[in-house]
Amino acid sequence: MSQVGCVGGGWYRIIFDALEQAGQLGEPVTYQQIKEKWGELRIYGRTVRGQYNPPGDAERRLMEILDAARAASLVTCEVCGAQAVAERTRVRCTACAEKNPVHLVCLSAAGVISHQ
Ligand SMILES: [Zn+2]
Repeated sequence: MSQVGCVGGGWYRIIFDALEQAGQLGEPVTYQQIKEKWGELRIYGRTVRGQYNPPGDAERRLMEILDAARAASLVTCEVCGAQAVAERTRVRCTACAEKNPVHLVCLSAAGVISHQ
């Protein structure tokens, strides 16, 4: 299974919820990339239809879902999922601030979540 990227396991719930909402759009979604950038969770995805057509309702809704995930990541520790405050480049709760993520959550192009 080809992965499009991995981020801290603390963001698993955010990713799971976003993918579940995207799965209810009624159009297949493919994911190009998932990464942490400037302390934010970035999930890049498109509806299959949206890759060849002007953005439709499903595409616009998908962008809202993925942007909501980005916003949620700013207050969620990327290591353990606890409430946290964004630092410059990382979002970690106080207890995890001295550690690096031990567990990673990875995403495939088909939207399958796995752990490393
Ligand atoms: Zn934490």
